[in-house]
Amino acid sequence: MPDQAAHILRSVFGYDGFRPPQDEVVGSLIAGKDALVLMPTGGGKSLCYQIPALVRYGTGIVISPLISLMQDQVAALCQQGVRAAFLNSTLRPDEVRRVERELRAGELDLLYVAPERLMMERMLELLDAVPLALFAIDEAHCVSQWGHDFRPEYLQLSVLHKRYPEVPRIALTATADERTRQEIITRLGLDDARLFVSSFDRPNIRYRLHEGQANAREQLLRFIREEHPGEAGIVYCLSRQKVDDLAAWLCSKGVPTLPYHAGLSADVRSANQSRFISEEGLVMAATIAFGMGIDKSNVRFVAHMSLPKSVEAYYQETGRAGRDGLPADAWMSYGLQDVIMLRQMMAESGADDAHKRVERHKLDAMLGLCESTGCRRQALLAYLGEKLPAPCGNCDNCLTPPETWDATLAAQKALSCVHRTGQRFGVMYLIDVLLGKDDERIRRFGHDRISTFGIGTEIGATAWRGIFRQLIARGLLSVDVDGHGGLHLTDSCRGVLRGEEQLWLRREAPAARTRAKRGAAGSGSRAAGSFSTPADRELWEALRELRMTLAKAQNVPPYVVFHDATLAEMVRQRPMDRDALATLSGIGERKLAAYGDDFLQVIRATGSPELT
Ligand code: ADP
Ligand code: ZN
Repeated sequence: MPDQAAHILRSVFGYDGFRPPQDEVVGSLIAGKDALVLMPTGGGKSLCYQIPALVRYGTGIVISPLISLMQDQVAALCQQGVRAAFLNSTLRPDEVRRVERELRAGELDLLYVAPERLMMERMLELLDAVPLALFAIDEAHCVSQWGHDFRPEYLQLSVLHKRYPEVPRIALTATADERTRQEIITRLGLDDARLFVSSFDRPNIRYRLHEGQANAREQLLRFIREEHPGEAGIVYCLSRQKVDDLAAWLCSKGVPTLPYHAGLSADVRSANQSRFISEEGLVMAATIAFGMGIDKSNVRFVAHMSLPKSVEAYYQETGRAGRDGLPADAWMSYGLQDVIMLRQMMAESGADDAHKRVERHKLDAMLGLCESTGCRRQALLAYLGEKLPAPCGNCDNCLTPPETWDATLAAQKALSCVHRTGQRFGVMYLIDVLLGKDDERIRRFGHDRISTFGIGTEIGATAWRGIFRQLIARGLLSVDVDGHGGLHLTDSCRGVLRGEEQLWLRREAPAARTRAKRGAAGSGSRAAGSFSTPADRELWEALRELRMTLAKAQNVPPYVVFHDATLAEMVRQRPMDRDALATLSGIGERKLAAYGDDFLQVIRATGSPELT
């Protein structure tokens, strides 16, 4: 049996080995046992059920809540010669009848079904009559009533176990937390399932989080131009307005960008989404409404123009980059304004106190990640309950360790300025007082006569902003709920104010220096198409063009034909015949037969690299 699985892995999918724990999951399902799989996005969940479905007798039923994802997966499987189909609301009645006929005739290895359709009695009766290899419940966290992806229909899936006790089930999710895991087990009746948890690390993603609100747009543009020209990426913005503005601005700067948010009509949204998926090198400016079910494997960067609400959200959103395992960037620019705004939004939300506490706690964790001076990946994984033994070497803090400085005295000045002015003014005003500014308002309140007036002139206004931001982020100051951004002291500031605690803060690097240093740490694109010789680049482009032509002819996204990783292998190895081509990762028998000669022709035509 295991031999059969390994054989299918190579001949159908074109891969040489399983990524742990894929092999164990596959073995377990083939043996007829239930499994619960927690694996990060891009970890390789699909093979965990696709291969057992091919090995076991009967059809594998995959329950998936996302129509677009279902279609992509089926398209990709058909390319590989797997007999796959889907049933969802997009099909015409005659198409539904065709799929049902194929199912009854035993002509399907895999059938993808939306949960609401699966639970229809008619569908269940159909399943009663055919041999079933397994049930795969994808995005299993949708059973969780706590999560934001909750789908009521998922709760009914417990029926499967009762109706088909002998058919093994596998539930899969990229949501790691303990509570969701428990909910999946209870609600789907998976108490006897073997649990497989793989590391949630995404080593190919480089995390970079920096302060830089004032010129965030320019920084983003420079980042795209220098590191990801012509590549696909997602830029998350806080509001619809910001999405529209940014998309228009990036377009005007020569970066093709589409907008996506809930304020656009459904038609525009779906058109933009499918362009993003099927074309290359488009940037999507979006609110968090975008992203669920985006299976595009070569998203090279995810940028955040503001602070996500929680570390989980940050992890999930950045996780859309680099699903193909090639280098990708998670880039974020955030500022004082975000911190104040999110704090206020949270305070004003209609939620009850317990809920607010949870949200505040989550935002604090996110801020902690932003302001951390150690390895970002270690901090991120620690939050997800995983310990990374050593710093990663692939995040901003590892590559360019931030300078810290003893900010105790400065913090004392800032905190006592808050105190002396009556704990009701915002950051701008407080900075003006610290700098001893000649200002009518300050005089009117008599704050030109208090002890903290003009005691902060050794530090510039920008640096003071950074200090206040970090004091808020660390919870030494809190923001008023009335919407005016007034600051007040918290209990935790006492130690610093009394000189009992030292406070070390990140030194805010001037923009120019950050840039220079970052350049030294390895500038330029690290992506799939970053080849050093012109000949390589030329071949890469030619291969991409061929892929696009083939994809268009079949109306499928380019990565369904071949992933970037496979094209990059072609450039590096220059296979000259079918046998050589067949050894590359991602080329199974079916694709070799369908596309091998076309790609070989392009490779041969571009010549061998030594000659150029
Ligand atoms: P997930 O569903 O967990 O997000 P996928 O199943 O889409 O991830 O897999 C992510 C990528 O990794 C895909 O491009 C897939 O082809 C590739 N992949 C999965 N398993 C392997 C493997 N054993 N060897 C090489 N590539 C793999
Ligand atoms: Zn690191």
